Amino acid sequence: MPDISASGQESDVGALWHPFSDMGAVERDGEFVIARGDGVHVFDAEGNRYLDATAGLWFTNVGHGRAELAEAAADQMRSIAAYSTFGDYVTQPTVELAEKLAGIAPVPGSKVFFTSGGSDSVETAAKLARRYWVETGRPSKRFVIGRQKAYHGMHYAGTALAGIPGNREGYGVLVAESATVAWDDVEDLRATIERIGPENVAAFFCEPVMGAGGVYPPPEDYLAGVRKLCTEMDVLFVADEVVTGYGRIGGSWFASTRFGLEPDMVTTAKGLTSGYLPMGAVLVAPRVADPFFQPDGGVWWRHGYTYSGHAAAAAVALANLAIIEREGLLDEASRLESTLAERLRPLADHERVAEVRCGVGALAAVQLADPGEAMGLARRLRAFGVATRAVGAGGLQVSPAFVMSDGEVQELADSIARALDA
Ligand code: PLP
Repeated sequence: MPDISASGQESDVGALWHPFSDMGAVERDGEFVIARGDGVHVFDAEGNRYLDATAGLWFTNVGHGRAELAEAAADQMRSIAAYSTFGDYVTQPTVELAEKLAGIAPVPGSKVFFTSGGSDSVETAAKLARRYWVETGRPSKRFVIGRQKAYHGMHYAGTALAGIPGNREGYGVLVAESATVAWDDVEDLRATIERIGPENVAAFFCEPVMGAGGVYPPPEDYLAGVRKLCTEMDVLFVADEVVTGYGRIGGSWFASTRFGLEPDMVTTAKGLTSGYLPMGAVLVAPRVADPFFQPDGGVWWRHGYTYSGHAAAAAVALANLAIIEREGLLDEASRLESTLAERLRPLADHERVAEVRCGVGALAAVQLADPGEAMGLARRLRAFGVATRAVGAGGLQVSPAFVMSDGEVQELADSIARALDA
């Protein structure tokens, strides 16, 4: 049994292979064990408290320690934890959740395809885009296009769509018919589609705010521009809202609604359950779903996951969305959009900070002048009572739960300032 040490110095790492990690370094320096969470705080094994700047990995929208969500899972598990949703099988919370998501989806009449997480959602959307064009008689439309700085999860298509070079290297060609465009230039997308030929392009994948690439809000008019271009070129527009969905964008459930994007598909996960159980969903606009819902039947989509529509996860998602509604957390995320900007922006004056990116939703990054310092600073911040991580090329991630108060944002800003000075 490995020794669990908050400081990590004496820990013996044992069997666990951490994702996205230099395991030699983790074995040398030890693990940082999170023992519990409460609201916007997490606690290590020794009981030390940290402000959770990132809401886990961008997912704890309603905050930690919500007994109501534990009870929703327990109630459902006592009745039935999960069953198949293949064919005509289904459980009640899964039906209810699909109706709920269709009701809040950016495009009315959307159908809901459940997955186990964000990477599954992206993979589902990439495959569905190609199948859609086969069903509608244009099978040559197979290329999928992503943007530089993009993160679309870690499955094959998602990795091929990614714009963070380090995440893509070392695997050979993952998806031959894929391409990457500049993250901020509509004309680059146009030129790329024209070069490949619109008759060969299935879909364009777009994070409304780039998340793991470093929190980059969209340049003015960019989203409207790429949306219009995709319509013109008859290329499906997929909004990857794994980070921005379920309120993080502030004021509405989805960034696609806030920016009027009417996407053909929306990939989601994370905030759907606030991370209390793993679950994702793809919201599919009627245009794309219709060929698979033929009244006479006969069209199968041979795709799905063992845990698509998992009953306990669906019950938790319903309870989570109810909390967001009851507590007005979409508005709280809007409040955080302003507070993060007001309280974090002064950090840009620090000599070790290059810029602070924020202003769209409960999302921000403090970009260090020397990107190589970010990981060390993130670790050092623990001594100042803050849990965060490096994001993109040398940024510090700030994506709190929507229940973080203005005072706690100030405390976060002050701690970052002190850690920068130290
Ligand atoms: N898409 C985006 C925009 C993401 O940020 C992520 C994860 O951070 C994913 C997809 C993949 O989600 P998951 O890690 O749940 O597979």
